[in-house]
Amino acid sequence: MRRVAGAALFAAALAVCAHGAAPAKPAVILITLDTTRLDHLGFGGCAQAQTPVLDALSGRGAYLAGAQAHVPLTLPSHANILTGRLPGATGLRVNGLVLREGVPTLATRLKEQGYRTAAVVSSAVLARGRGLSRGFDAYDDRMTRTPRGGGAPEERTATEVTDAALALANAGPGPLFLWVHYYDPHFDYVPPPPWSNQFKASPYDGEIAYMDSEIGRLLAGLEKAGLLPGALVVVAGDHGEGLGEHGERQHGVFLYNYALQVPLLFIWPGRIPAGSRPKDLCGLTDVYPTVMDLLGLPAGETDGRTLAPLFREEKLPPRDHYAETYHGFFTYGWAPLRALVTPEWKFIEAPRPELYRWEKSETENLIGRNEAVADRMRKALAGFPTADSQEREQVQSLLKDPSNAEAIRTLMSLGYLSGAGPSASPKTLLDPKDAIGIEEEVRRAQDLLLDGNLQGAETLLLDILKRNPQNVPALSVLGSLYLRGEKLGKARVCFEEQVRLKPQMAEGHLNLGSVCRRQKDLARAEKEYRAALAVDPAMGEAAANLSQLLGEGGRAEEGGRVVDEALRAGAESADLHFQAGLFAAQRNDFEKARFHFTRSVALDPTRHAAMANLGRIAWQSGRVDEAISQYQRALRLAPRNPDYLATLGSLFLNGKDDPTQALRCFRQALAAAPYGPQADSLREIVAGLEKAGTPP
Ligand SMILES: [Zn+2]
Repeated sequence: MRRVAGAALFAAALAVCAHGAAPAKPAVILITLDTTRLDHLGFGGCAQAQTPVLDALSGRGAYLAGAQAHVPLTLPSHANILTGRLPGATGLRVNGLVLREGVPTLATRLKEQGYRTAAVVSSAVLARGRGLSRGFDAYDDRMTRTPRGGGAPEERTATEVTDAALALANAGPGPLFLWVHYYDPHFDYVPPPPWSNQFKASPYDGEIAYMDSEIGRLLAGLEKAGLLPGALVVVAGDHGEGLGEHGERQHGVFLYNYALQVPLLFIWPGRIPAGSRPKDLCGLTDVYPTVMDLLGLPAGETDGRTLAPLFREEKLPPRDHYAETYHGFFTYGWAPLRALVTPEWKFIEAPRPELYRWEKSETENLIGRNEAVADRMRKALAGFPTADSQEREQVQSLLKDPSNAEAIRTLMSLGYLSGAGPSASPKTLLDPKDAIGIEEEVRRAQDLLLDGNLQGAETLLLDILKRNPQNVPALSVLGSLYLRGEKLGKARVCFEEQVRLKPQMAEGHLNLGSVCRRQKDLARAEKEYRAALAVDPAMGEAAANLSQLLGEGGRAEEGGRVVDEALRAGAESADLHFQAGLFAAQRNDFEKARFHFTRSVALDPTRHAAMANLGRIAWQSGRVDEAISQYQRALRLAPRNPDYLATLGSLFLNGKDDPTQALRCFRQALAAAPYGPQADSLREIVAGLEKAGTPP
């Protein structure tokens, strides 16, 4: 019911506005739909879809039926949307990299125009460290859902996103640019009720229906706040989903239609005619120049072009569309794929190249009968920069900037920055068409590991690596498996190979650092942690481990600096705040220590050591009750910790004058560690209290 109400409310708001003049600086609302296939939406032709809000929106402005993504990956594709630039300019070819410095985005440009800029994203893939946060006054990237294997939260639900977006939208005066990113249709597919029941057979569609209802709530909320009338609303998908087509379950490996075709809507009542439905081939890099054009602002340098003439039923000259994916290349060492799409043809460059009629079936490769077309398109593709040339360029520009000196020295000393870039010729690499099954096998190995079947996982991973030795996830999972089994030598071999293959990814350095530390190779551990931070300055776990290692080696001050730098870079982890708390306490800065320990507990509610430290700080400031309750909280998680028990005993004895409770605590402390370092003094105290006639 609420869904329909949301859609109806929004329609009413738009109708009212259609009669008024648009404000000088209209609100701009950008809604991005992760992993949402156009052909799984009602207006995209899916009869079973339950997407009334998006369907209604599609009829109230322009629906670009020929819209295509350039990269079937979340971060690179969102960068295309927000900057109007292709991966060669953004530097974002795969997830996990950082937007190149100095590239203007919708947010930086609209902020210059006096807009209040706010964003809410719902996947850690788009966290602020990746650079899309530039230009946003507020960038809400707090995730809540922890992945199955544990670790930091990586995503959050549409309900949380809508709540956060409405809070930000209402947070101040001035024209608003709001970007809201919904991640729910991304794997795994677990819609909440009632969609979980309604879409038992196709939970992916259930996620889309749930997201649609939340978009309805978002629009209704914006309408209620008076932000919707006169607003330009843009809705864009970032890429599709395989759902088993061509053997691909998710996305990223292939450039087929299901991956590149995306929903794209521009709604601006009174300015864009309702029911406009151009079928022209267009791309996500067109979003930025189109928005700028509609607002009457110069777009500057862009790889796209404004689509506004299409809304006025004018013609645009046909133009080729470029697409690429380096996911298989960077992740598994497979051949990269690049494609060129024209209004007639689609050519995919690969070890075994493919040619199809655009938007027609992609099951029968037509290249054998159309060599001349393929040749022409291959030549046109060569005009787009490859990752090879780009990495060389990136390293060159890194070397020119003196502020990178330390990071570069670190990477150089480890032999990671040769400047050569990926070296193997794509011709000699596995064609993703032949290797796609391996991705599923790695996933299965991961599941086996999570289920505790170490033997099964190891056998499978070794078999995968025999066929595909450059498979980084397989190396990483195998390394973690050996680490879990305390086979440190074998784990080290895996992680060393991982960082050799993929030095630009911080995770391998972190894992290798942790193995070296356990092997007592502290010098190498320090280097690897520093390499992780050189690549990703906001990697909290690397900073926490490094600062701990420095602290243990008598270099507490250096350790403190590492923690501060990571926090400044936007790192957020329970470990890191715990370390920051310890360093602050050492400097007797208890206010700061208290802040960090509190943050640590908020991020990890099982962190009893942080609770005990909060207790200690409270006691030092004379807040005895608070101290007792913090230690009691810590003891609920670690009931036999002798230090907590002894301290709690002292708190009862000296702070509350309660020898009965104190005696109970001291006895438990003694029972927990009868030969511990405090055992003798505890025995004395217990004996003393008993002699004084303390009732048991
Ligand atoms: Zn995505």
